[in-house]
Amino acid sequence: MTLTVVNPATEEPLAQVEQAGVGEMDDAVARAKAAFPGWRAVAPADRARLLRRLATLVEEHGEELARIESQNVGKPIAGARAEVGMVAQVFHFYAGAVDKHHGETIPVAGGVDMTFREPMGVVGLIVPWNFPLNIASWKLGPALACGNTVVLKPAELTPLSALRLAELVLEAGIPDGVVNVVVGPGSVVGQRLVEHPDVAKIAFTGSTEVGRRLMRDAAGTIKRVTLELGGKSANVVFADADLERAAAAAPYAVFDNAGQDCCARSRILVERSAYDRFLSFLVEATRAVRVGDPADERTEMGPLISAAHREAVSSFVDGDPLFRGETPPAPGFWYPCTLVEASNDDRVAREEVFGPVAAVIPFADEEEAVRIANDTPYGLSGSIWTRDGARALRVARALDTGVLSINSNSSVRVSTPFGGFKESGFGRELGMHALDAYSEVKNVFYSTD
Ligand code: NAD
Repeated sequence: MTLTVVNPATEEPLAQVEQAGVGEMDDAVARAKAAFPGWRAVAPADRARLLRRLATLVEEHGEELARIESQNVGKPIAGARAEVGMVAQVFHFYAGAVDKHHGETIPVAGGVDMTFREPMGVVGLIVPWNFPLNIASWKLGPALACGNTVVLKPAELTPLSALRLAELVLEAGIPDGVVNVVVGPGSVVGQRLVEHPDVAKIAFTGSTEVGRRLMRDAAGTIKRVTLELGGKSANVVFADADLERAAAAAPYAVFDNAGQDCCARSRILVERSAYDRFLSFLVEATRAVRVGDPADERTEMGPLISAAHREAVSSFVDGDPLFRGETPPAPGFWYPCTLVEASNDDRVAREEVFGPVAAVIPFADEEEAVRIANDTPYGLSGSIWTRDGARALRVARALDTGVLSINSNSSVRVSTPFGGFKESGFGRELGMHALDAYSEVKNVFYSTD
């Protein structure tokens, strides 16, 4: 079976890739299993050196990887470069973390009690199409640092950067079999990875629907699972905020990556007393978003990933929105930046659109803001804009969400934990926290009697 990979900005084929089936997935797991004893035995300093070499190779091939990602996902090239830069930083970070993830000694009677952080074995990594290389690196870095071997399954729509990264892994000197990339349908090879008895853990990023199913499928082998799922995050703007700054930033918190971002602040909650003023700033800022050719250095938003996805996104907007932007003519899976006025009960405010559509929702006071923000099954991200520091912290503590920013919309950093509450998943990626999800704690008591 051959897969045709398409450029969503031109609808032209980019590459033909052989798709794997269950047999090839089993072979990949067998290779990872065979490579595990050797990889876990690599001295920590050497494992760190290999990860650092990989980070350096990503930097050296940064432009090439950014172009692959830009063409395959339709990302603006400037954003793709920043993402690849983060991939290198992630490998640098986890190179540095290899020998800083320690066990402990615990005071007990009659001997010495110590803990070890043991690698799990073969880890399956399943990633989506919106940030293919970035999200793969968030999983690869800590998995490899802890001494696991991996099978990485990229999304069918965007396998190209993972395939190129696998070549760089070998060029870095990481032994054959430690990182295996398998391209194929999620319902076939993804599911096989989840059910495979020789796979110890699945780290998944994708939709809440598939995550739910994956948890069930992993139950048969009591597989460890971490899930980074969907979101419907709130951008809460109080009347005392720097409204111009909040409004200038808000479009990029929804329309970056054409809204195909799990952290998208796609519900913009605005205190009623500042609503009209904020809205006029917001419309102006949204009008200024530059939508167009992803290869153009100045472009800020590209197309959606596919025609089917555009269909799904457009189903959320009926009637006249508050604002609808412009898009380039066909070909390309374009969808305009769109602002709609909504109540939190409307479908556009309840479901993840995963496209450039923001629901603007008024609120009366702090209590109502918190209630509306939390009135969602998701809990991934969010922002709070206010000049009142005590309120900022009060609201931050009250929101049921994993990653928040105050007077900012940025929530992803290499050294800080990232992950969701509620149906946005569980487990944390990035920072030192991620290492806990790729290792098992072993407790050993040594009698001194
Ligand atoms: P998806 O759930 O359709 O697919 C994700 C991956 O799972 C793909 O590689 C797919 O092939 C695979 N898959 C599908 N069915 C499977 C099965 N039965 N068993 C095993 N694997 C299977 O998601 P998508 O459409 O690629 O990505 C968009 C979703 O990802 C959105 O919901 C978004 O919010 C979420 N996402 C979450 C985060 C986060 O960190 N929380 C980050 C990015 C994207």
